[in-house]
Amino acid sequence: MPIAPPEVQITDQWRVSCDGGEGALGHPRVWLSVDRDDGFVECGYCDKLIVHEDFKDAVFKKLGLSD
Ligand SMILES: [Zn+2]
Repeated sequence: MPIAPPEVQITDQWRVSCDGGEGALGHPRVWLSVDRDDGFVECGYCDKLIVHEDFKDAVFKKLGLSD
């Protein structure tokens, strides 16, 4: 079974907050630091992938995602 691709958020910040959005997916707001080597961080609550824009192409390629 293929798994659903994670939600991806592109950011130009190195510190980002995530609260999972509205409704059932919401969770307490957490602050995440984008990894300066990998260029992304994953939210531990909702599995959202937060990608720094400078790393977008590299991360998408690495993870097999497309725009
Ligand atoms: Zn989240």
